[in-house]
Amino acid sequence: MKNRDVAKLTENYVAHTYARYPIALVRGKGARVWDADGKEYLDFLAGIAVNSLGHCHPAIVRAIQQQARKLIHVSNLYHILPQSELARELCRHSFADRVFFCNSGAEANEAAIKLARRYGGEHSNGKYEILSTHNSFHGRTLATLTATGQEKVRAGYDPLPAGFRQIPFNDLRAAEEAIDEQKTVGILVEPIQAEGGINVPDENYFRGLRELCDRRGLLLIFDEVQTGVGRTGKLFGYEHFGVEPDIMTLAKALGGGLPLGAMLAREAVAQSFVPGSHASTFGGNPLVCGVGLAVMKTLLKGGVLKNSVKMGKVFMQRLHALKARFPFIRDIRGKGLMLGIELEMEGTKIVEACMQEGLLINCTAYRVLRFVPPLTIKQKEIDRGLRILEEVLARQ
Ligand SMILES: *Cc1c(COP(=O)(O)O)cnc(C)c1O
Repeated sequence: MKNRDVAKLTENYVAHTYARYPIALVRGKGARVWDADGKEYLDFLAGIAVNSLGHCHPAIVRAIQQQARKLIHVSNLYHILPQSELARELCRHSFADRVFFCNSGAEANEAAIKLARRYGGEHSNGKYEILSTHNSFHGRTLATLTATGQEKVRAGYDPLPAGFRQIPFNDLRAAEEAIDEQKTVGILVEPIQAEGGINVPDENYFRGLRELCDRRGLLLIFDEVQTGVGRTGKLFGYEHFGVEPDIMTLAKALGGGLPLGAMLAREAVAQSFVPGSHASTFGGNPLVCGVGLAVMKTLLKGGVLKNSVKMGKVFMQRLHALKARFPFIRDIRGKGLMLGIELEMEGTKIVEACMQEGLLINCTAYRVLRFVPPLTIKQKEIDRGLRILEEVLARQ
């Protein structure tokens, strides 16, 4: 089967929810992938910040094989050792005391929203409203697309669930003014807006939001589905900002490529979930959690997080060199290995040209080229990838 044949199959049988590039990726190793025609690419997208250990990392392959031989799935009606161990690891390394496991980022945010509403019902006269930010992205379920601050994600899905409102990102005064004393229960926000264009807020924004939430009795909820699990050079994005949330959601990198999401909370908040409040058939099953444990271990003990900090600095320097050369680069943003270049023009043409030359990146928020390579990336791979990008940019 060649790229063309796979494309034909997709075209005939798969729902048309994606505008796909005309290649089918069939094999991967580290930061490299190959398409069905045998062409090799350097992968600076990593399944959109999912394959943090690179493709088919031996620790992940081993964890899948070992756990698959032992036990793949049982119901959450029973205790599941890898799930409890992964929960302990996540709590040990974060602000949180308890974890609810699910299968995706949207589900993790659903769980956060549901927990916030139950908490509001118990502790604050039934407050339920969630404030989120313009240009945010929180998922594609009805509740999470309603929280998402992008019109195009909501289009066509009326009537939307009640209880959501958006405020400008990185604007403390707007947050304060938007709070409805009778209704607002929490603020849902990404530490760095990812899909919204790699938007890093001011140094004091989150300290201000934390202080505001404490003063007005609101929950601070961080959507770390993309920033979490090492992507920004810290295990969790909030660590950059000197604050802790009350609830945090994870997914993307957590399962090393298997579908695994998580919602973490402080004990006093987590208590609002009791048996029967929420559930997921697959959530936290032995296989995905066995792999999640391997991901955490490799990140923390295998030196991957350290590597990502070093490589993030190298990457950032190289991007600044590009900015010095090309006047149509407006801005360079990001932390760790979550980086973006804001262009003066639309970025899709550049993404396509890079793909042609063997480099996978993507474009988000129309004008922002996004780089989320594996955290295991090597300096010579960064050099090679950015040389391709430089050549493509030079043709603009
Ligand atoms: C990807 C993403 C989501 C949605 O995750 P899914 O697994 O696609 O449901 C939610 N929030 C953020 C910040 C994301 O980047």
